[in-house]
Amino acid sequence: MARVAFIGLGNMGGGMAANLVKAGHEVMAFDLSQDALARAAANGCTVAESAEQAVQGVDAVVTMLPAGKHVAEVFRTNVLLNAPKDAILMDCSTIDVATAKKVEDEAAFAGFTMVDAPVSGGIAAAEGGTLTFMVGGSDEAFTKASPYLEKMGKAVIHAGGPGAGQAAKIVNNMLLGVTMAGTCEAFVLAQKLGLDPQTFFDISSKASGQSWSMTSYCPVPGVGPETPADRNYEGGFAAALMLKDLKLAMEAAQAAGAYTPMGGEAEELYQRFVDRGGAGKDFSALIKMIDDSWEV
Ligand code: NAD
Repeated sequence: MARVAFIGLGNMGGGMAANLVKAGHEVMAFDLSQDALARAAANGCTVAESAEQAVQGVDAVVTMLPAGKHVAEVFRTNVLLNAPKDAILMDCSTIDVATAKKVEDEAAFAGFTMVDAPVSGGIAAAEGGTLTFMVGGSDEAFTKASPYLEKMGKAVIHAGGPGAGQAAKIVNNMLLGVTMAGTCEAFVLAQKLGLDPQTFFDISSKASGQSWSMTSYCPVPGVGPETPADRNYEGGFAAALMLKDLKLAMEAAQAAGAYTPMGGEAEELYQRFVDRGGAGKDFSALIKMIDDSWEV
Protein backbone atom coordinates (compact mmCIF):
# COMPACT_ATOMS: atom_id res chain seq x y z
CA MET A 1 0.00 0.00 0.00
CA ALA A 2 1.28 3.42 -0.94
CA ARG A 3 0.32 6.97 -0.12
CA VAL A 4 -0.90 8.76 -3.24
CA ALA A 5 -1.81 12.45 -3.67
CA PHE A 6 -4.67 12.96 -6.16
CA ILE A 7 -5.31 16.51 -7.39
CA GLY A 8 -8.38 17.18 -9.56
CA LEU A 9 -11.26 14.87 -8.64
CA GLY A 10 -13.83 15.94 -11.22
CA ASN A 11 -15.76 13.73 -13.65
CA MET A 12 -12.72 11.61 -14.45
CA GLY A 13 -10.46 12.02 -11.41
CA GLY A 14 -13.23 11.09 -8.97
CA GLY A 15 -13.58 7.55 -10.34
CA MET A 16 -9.83 7.11 -10.85
CA ALA A 17 -9.05 8.05 -7.23
CA ALA A 18 -11.77 5.66 -6.02
CA ASN A 19 -10.03 2.82 -7.90
CA LEU A 20 -6.72 3.62 -6.20
CA VAL A 21 -8.53 3.41 -2.84
CA LYS A 22 -10.06 0.05 -3.88
CA ALA A 23 -6.53 -1.17 -4.72
CA GLY A 24 -5.55 -0.52 -1.10
CA HIS A 25 -3.75 2.82 -1.45
CA GLU A 26 -4.17 5.72 0.94
CA VAL A 27 -5.33 8.58 -1.29
CA MET A 28 -4.86 12.20 -0.23
CA ALA A 29 -7.38 14.20 -2.29
CA PHE A 30 -7.38 17.87 -3.18
CA ASP A 31 -9.70 19.81 -5.49
CA LEU A 32 -10.87 23.43 -5.56
CA SER A 33 -14.47 22.17 -5.58
CA GLN A 34 -16.04 21.21 -2.24
CA ASP A 35 -18.52 18.94 -4.07
CA ALA A 36 -15.67 17.01 -5.67
CA LEU A 37 -13.99 16.65 -2.26
CA ALA A 38 -17.22 15.43 -0.63
CA ARG A 39 -17.55 12.72 -3.32
CA ALA A 40 -13.89 11.79 -2.84
CA ALA A 41 -14.39 11.44 0.92
CA ALA A 42 -17.45 9.23 0.31
CA ASN A 43 -15.23 7.03 -1.88
CA GLY A 44 -12.66 6.55 0.88
CA CYS A 45 -10.14 9.30 0.07
CA THR A 46 -8.64 11.48 2.80
CA VAL A 47 -9.43 15.12 2.09
CA ALA A 48 -6.46 17.51 2.20
CA GLU A 49 -6.85 21.21 2.87
CA SER A 50 -4.48 22.23 0.08
CA ALA A 51 -2.45 20.72 -2.75
CA GLU A 52 0.60 21.46 -0.63
CA GLN A 53 -0.76 19.35 2.23
CA ALA A 54 -1.92 16.56 -0.12
CA VAL A 55 1.57 15.92 -1.50
CA GLN A 56 3.45 15.86 1.83
CA GLY A 57 5.22 12.54 2.37
CA VAL A 58 3.58 10.71 -0.57
CA ASP A 59 4.98 7.96 -2.82
CA ALA A 60 3.10 9.16 -5.90
CA VAL A 61 1.20 12.17 -7.23
CA VAL A 62 -1.62 11.98 -9.81
CA THR A 63 -3.18 15.07 -11.39
CA MET A 64 -6.38 15.10 -13.50
CA LEU A 65 -6.97 18.77 -14.29
CA PRO A 66 -8.81 20.62 -17.08
CA ALA A 67 -5.97 22.12 -19.17
CA GLY A 68 -2.26 22.96 -19.46
CA LYS A 69 -2.43 26.19 -17.48
CA HIS A 70 -3.89 24.35 -14.45
CA VAL A 71 -1.27 21.61 -14.67
CA ALA A 72 1.63 24.09 -14.95
CA GLU A 73 0.35 26.11 -12.00
CA VAL A 74 -0.27 23.13 -9.70
CA PHE A 75 3.17 21.62 -10.43
CA ARG A 76 5.11 24.90 -10.23
CA THR A 77 3.46 26.34 -7.14
CA ASN A 78 2.77 23.16 -5.19
CA VAL A 79 3.90 19.72 -6.29
CA LEU A 80 7.53 20.50 -7.20
CA LEU A 81 8.01 22.54 -4.01
CA ASN A 82 6.42 20.13 -1.53
CA ALA A 83 6.40 16.50 -2.75
CA PRO A 84 9.23 14.14 -1.74
CA LYS A 85 11.84 13.91 -4.54
CA ASP A 86 11.43 10.14 -4.85
CA ALA A 87 7.67 10.38 -5.51
CA ILE A 88 6.62 9.43 -9.05
CA LEU A 89 4.62 12.27 -10.65
CA MET A 90 1.84 11.39 -13.15
CA ASP A 91 -0.19 13.98 -15.02
CA CYS A 92 -3.21 12.22 -16.57
CA SER A 93 -4.95 15.38 -17.87
CA THR A 94 -5.20 16.01 -21.63
CA ILE A 95 -3.01 19.06 -22.26
CA ASP A 96 -0.86 20.59 -25.01
CA VAL A 97 2.38 18.80 -25.86
CA ALA A 98 4.53 21.93 -25.29
CA THR A 99 3.30 22.46 -21.71
CA ALA A 100 3.61 18.75 -20.93
CA LYS A 101 7.25 18.76 -22.04
CA LYS A 102 8.01 21.99 -20.15
CA VAL A 103 6.50 20.76 -16.88
CA GLU A 104 8.37 17.45 -17.24
CA ASP A 105 11.64 19.34 -17.85
CA GLU A 106 11.04 21.44 -14.74
CA ALA A 107 10.24 18.31 -12.72
CA ALA A 108 13.45 16.62 -13.93
CA PHE A 109 15.46 19.75 -13.11
CA ALA A 110 13.99 19.68 -9.59
CA GLY A 111 15.07 16.01 -9.25
CA PHE A 112 11.72 14.25 -9.87
CA THR A 113 10.67 11.39 -12.13
CA MET A 114 7.52 12.26 -14.08
CA VAL A 115 5.25 10.98 -16.85
CA ASP A 116 2.48 12.46 -18.96
CA ALA A 117 -0.22 9.79 -19.00
CA PRO A 118 -3.40 11.02 -20.71
CA VAL A 119 -6.28 8.59 -21.03
CA SER A 120 -8.64 7.23 -23.64
CA GLY A 121 -12.09 6.29 -22.33
CA GLY A 122 -14.72 8.43 -20.67
CA ILE A 123 -16.32 8.74 -17.24
CA ALA A 124 -17.64 5.15 -17.25
CA ALA A 125 -14.13 3.81 -18.00
CA ALA A 126 -12.68 6.02 -15.24
CA GLU A 127 -15.20 4.58 -12.78
CA GLY A 128 -14.81 1.02 -14.04
CA GLY A 129 -10.99 1.10 -14.05
CA THR A 130 -10.87 0.34 -17.78
CA LEU A 131 -9.04 3.41 -19.11
CA THR A 132 -6.21 3.19 -21.65
CA PHE A 133 -3.15 5.20 -20.58
CA MET A 134 -0.73 6.59 -23.19
CA VAL A 135 2.47 7.28 -21.32
CA GLY A 136 5.32 9.66 -22.14
CA GLY A 137 8.55 9.61 -20.14
CA SER A 138 11.78 7.71 -19.56
CA ASP A 139 11.86 3.91 -19.15
CA GLU A 140 12.51 4.42 -15.44
CA ALA A 141 9.53 6.78 -15.08
CA PHE A 142 7.27 4.35 -17.00
CA THR A 143 8.32 1.47 -14.75
CA LYS A 144 7.61 3.50 -11.60
CA ALA A 145 4.25 4.81 -12.86
CA SER A 146 2.83 1.58 -14.31
CA PRO A 147 1.78 -0.16 -11.06
CA TYR A 148 -0.41 2.87 -10.18
CA LEU A 149 -1.84 3.34 -13.68
CA GLU A 150 -2.67 -0.38 -13.95
CA LYS A 151 -5.05 0.00 -11.00
CA MET A 152 -7.03 2.60 -12.97
CA GLY A 153 -6.92 1.13 -16.47
CA LYS A 154 -7.01 -1.93 -18.68
CA ALA A 155 -4.03 -0.91 -20.82
CA VAL A 156 -0.89 1.11 -20.06
CA ILE A 157 1.19 1.83 -23.16
CA HIS A 158 4.63 3.46 -23.27
CA ALA A 159 4.38 5.94 -26.16
CA GLY A 160 7.91 7.36 -25.94
CA GLY A 161 9.79 10.16 -24.14
CA PRO A 162 8.36 13.22 -22.33
CA GLY A 163 5.24 14.57 -24.11
CA ALA A 164 4.76 11.42 -26.23
CA GLY A 165 1.64 10.38 -24.30
CA GLN A 166 -0.02 13.73 -25.05
CA ALA A 167 1.12 13.53 -28.69
CA ALA A 168 -0.44 10.06 -29.10
CA LYS A 169 -3.67 11.17 -27.43
CA ILE A 170 -4.28 14.26 -29.55
CA VAL A 171 -3.24 12.67 -32.83
CA ASN A 172 -5.60 9.75 -32.13
CA ASN A 173 -8.43 12.13 -31.27
CA MET A 174 -7.78 14.23 -34.37
CA LEU A 175 -8.24 11.06 -36.43
CA LEU A 176 -11.41 10.26 -34.46
CA GLY A 177 -12.83 13.75 -35.13
CA VAL A 178 -12.06 13.40 -38.84
CA THR A 179 -13.57 9.90 -39.17
CA MET A 180 -16.68 10.90 -37.22
CA ALA A 181 -17.23 13.99 -39.40
CA GLY A 182 -16.74 11.83 -42.51
CA THR A 183 -19.08 9.13 -41.22
CA CYS A 184 -21.79 11.73 -40.46
CA GLU A 185 -21.65 13.22 -43.94
CA ALA A 186 -21.56 9.76 -45.53
CA PHE A 187 -24.85 8.81 -43.83
CA VAL A 188 -26.43 12.13 -44.82
CA LEU A 189 -25.40 11.67 -48.46
CA ALA A 190 -26.47 8.00 -48.46
CA GLN A 191 -29.92 8.98 -47.25
CA LYS A 192 -30.26 11.77 -49.82
CA LEU A 193 -29.35 9.25 -52.52
CA GLY A 194 -32.21 7.05 -51.33
CA LEU A 195 -30.23 4.47 -49.35
CA ASP A 196 -31.68 3.13 -46.11
CA PRO A 197 -29.22 3.95 -43.22
CA GLN A 198 -29.25 0.35 -41.96
CA THR A 199 -28.54 -0.99 -45.45
CA PHE A 200 -25.71 1.51 -45.92
CA PHE A 201 -24.29 0.49 -42.51
CA ASP A 202 -24.48 -3.22 -43.43
CA ILE A 203 -22.54 -2.54 -46.62
CA SER A 204 -20.01 0.09 -45.51
CA SER A 205 -19.20 -1.54 -42.15
CA LYS A 206 -17.96 -4.55 -44.14
CA ALA A 207 -16.42 -2.55 -46.97
CA SER A 208 -13.47 -0.19 -47.25
CA GLY A 209 -15.31 2.81 -45.76
CA GLN A 210 -15.52 1.26 -42.31
CA SER A 211 -13.91 2.82 -39.23
CA TRP A 212 -14.45 2.74 -35.46
CA SER A 213 -16.73 5.79 -35.86
CA MET A 214 -19.02 3.68 -38.01
CA THR A 215 -18.87 0.18 -36.59
CA SER A 216 -18.54 0.93 -32.85
CA TYR A 217 -19.95 4.43 -32.51
CA CYS A 218 -22.45 4.89 -35.33
CA PRO A 219 -23.93 8.43 -35.28
CA VAL A 220 -27.33 7.18 -36.52
CA PRO A 221 -29.89 6.04 -33.91
CA GLY A 222 -31.02 2.43 -34.19
CA VAL A 223 -28.15 1.45 -36.46
CA GLY A 224 -25.18 -0.67 -35.31
CA PRO A 225 -24.42 -1.37 -31.63
CA GLU A 226 -26.00 0.83 -28.94
CA THR A 227 -24.31 4.25 -28.87
CA PRO A 228 -25.10 7.76 -27.52
CA ALA A 229 -27.12 8.29 -30.75
CA ASP A 230 -29.67 5.90 -29.21
CA ARG A 231 -29.91 8.12 -26.11
CA ASN A 232 -30.55 11.38 -27.96
CA TYR A 233 -26.77 11.95 -27.97
CA GLU A 234 -26.58 12.24 -24.16
CA GLY A 235 -23.54 10.91 -22.26
CA GLY A 236 -20.55 9.65 -24.23
CA PHE A 237 -17.78 12.04 -25.29
CA ALA A 238 -18.90 15.67 -25.20
CA ALA A 239 -18.44 17.74 -28.37
CA ALA A 240 -16.73 20.43 -26.25
CA LEU A 241 -14.00 17.93 -25.29
CA MET A 242 -13.59 16.82 -28.91
CA LEU A 243 -13.18 20.49 -29.86
CA LYS A 244 -10.59 20.94 -27.08
CA ASP A 245 -8.57 17.98 -28.39
CA LEU A 246 -8.82 19.16 -32.02
CA LYS A 247 -7.53 22.59 -30.98
CA LEU A 248 -4.60 20.95 -29.16
CA ALA A 249 -3.87 18.86 -32.26
CA MET A 250 -3.96 21.93 -34.54
CA GLU A 251 -1.65 23.87 -32.19
CA ALA A 252 0.77 20.94 -32.17
CA ALA A 253 0.56 20.61 -35.97
CA GLN A 254 1.39 24.29 -36.39
CA ALA A 255 4.33 24.06 -33.98
CA ALA A 256 5.63 20.94 -35.76
CA GLY A 257 5.07 22.31 -39.29
CA ALA A 258 2.69 19.43 -40.18
CA TYR A 259 0.02 19.96 -42.87
CA THR A 260 -3.29 18.70 -41.39
CA PRO A 261 -6.13 20.00 -43.61
CA MET A 262 -8.65 17.37 -42.50
CA GLY A 263 -7.95 18.06 -38.83
CA GLY A 264 -8.49 21.77 -39.56
CA GLU A 265 -11.85 21.06 -41.22
CA ALA A 266 -12.93 18.91 -38.28
CA GLU A 267 -11.95 21.66 -35.83
CA GLU A 268 -14.00 24.21 -37.79
CA LEU A 269 -17.05 21.88 -37.89
CA TYR A 270 -16.89 21.16 -34.14
CA GLN A 271 -16.40 24.87 -33.37
CA ARG A 272 -19.61 25.65 -35.31
CA PHE A 273 -21.44 22.83 -33.57
CA VAL A 274 -20.34 24.05 -30.12
CA ASP A 275 -21.23 27.67 -31.01
CA ARG A 276 -24.73 26.48 -31.93
CA GLY A 277 -25.23 24.98 -28.47
CA GLY A 278 -23.92 21.44 -29.02
CA ALA A 279 -21.10 21.58 -26.42
CA GLY A 280 -22.69 19.12 -23.99
CA LYS A 281 -23.98 16.68 -26.62
CA ASP A 282 -22.05 13.59 -27.63
CA PHE A 283 -19.65 14.38 -30.48
CA SER A 284 -21.55 12.08 -32.88
CA ALA A 285 -24.48 14.55 -32.74
CA LEU A 286 -22.51 16.51 -35.36
CA ILE A 287 -24.71 14.65 -37.86
CA LYS A 288 -27.60 16.92 -36.84
CA MET A 289 -25.65 19.99 -37.89
CA ILE A 290 -24.31 18.50 -41.11
CA ASP A 291 -27.91 18.10 -42.23
CA ASP A 292 -30.57 20.03 -40.28
CA SER A 293 -33.26 17.86 -41.78
CA TRP A 294 -31.68 14.68 -40.45
CA GLU A 295 -34.38 12.81 -38.56
CA VAL A 296 -33.27 11.66 -35.12
P1 NAD B 1 -13.62 18.20 -14.69
O1 NAD B 1 -13.75 19.66 -14.99
O2 NAD B 1 -14.82 17.40 -14.34
O3 NAD B 1 -12.55 18.00 -13.50
C1 NAD B 1 -11.41 18.81 -13.30
C2 NAD B 1 -11.29 19.07 -11.81
O4 NAD B 1 -10.10 19.82 -11.57
C3 NAD B 1 -12.46 19.90 -11.25
O5 NAD B 1 -13.06 19.20 -10.17
C4 NAD B 1 -11.78 21.19 -10.79
O6 NAD B 1 -12.38 21.75 -9.62
C5 NAD B 1 -10.38 20.72 -10.51
N1 NAD B 1 -9.36 21.79 -10.53
C6 NAD B 1 -9.18 22.75 -11.46
N2 NAD B 1 -8.11 23.51 -11.11
C7 NAD B 1 -7.62 23.01 -9.96
C8 NAD B 1 -6.55 23.35 -9.10
N3 NAD B 1 -5.74 24.39 -9.38
N4 NAD B 1 -6.35 22.62 -7.99
C9 NAD B 1 -7.15 21.57 -7.69
N5 NAD B 1 -8.19 21.18 -8.46
C10 NAD B 1 -8.43 21.90 -9.58
O7 NAD B 1 -12.87 17.56 -15.96
P2 NAD B 1 -12.80 16.00 -16.37
O8 NAD B 1 -13.91 15.68 -17.31
O9 NAD B 1 -12.57 15.19 -15.14
O10 NAD B 1 -11.46 16.02 -17.26
C11 NAD B 1 -10.17 16.09 -16.68
C12 NAD B 1 -9.14 15.91 -17.79
O11 NAD B 1 -9.34 14.63 -18.42
C13 NAD B 1 -9.23 16.94 -18.90
O12 NAD B 1 -7.93 17.29 -19.29
C14 NAD B 1 -9.98 16.22 -20.00
O13 NAD B 1 -9.68 16.72 -21.29
C15 NAD B 1 -9.48 14.81 -19.83
N6 NAD B 1 -10.39 13.75 -20.33
C16 NAD B 1 -11.72 13.82 -20.06
C17 NAD B 1 -12.56 12.80 -20.54
C18 NAD B 1 -14.05 12.83 -20.27
O14 NAD B 1 -14.79 12.04 -20.89
N7 NAD B 1 -14.55 13.68 -19.34
C19 NAD B 1 -12.04 11.73 -21.28
C20 NAD B 1 -10.64 11.67 -21.50
C21 NAD B 1 -9.84 12.70 -21.02
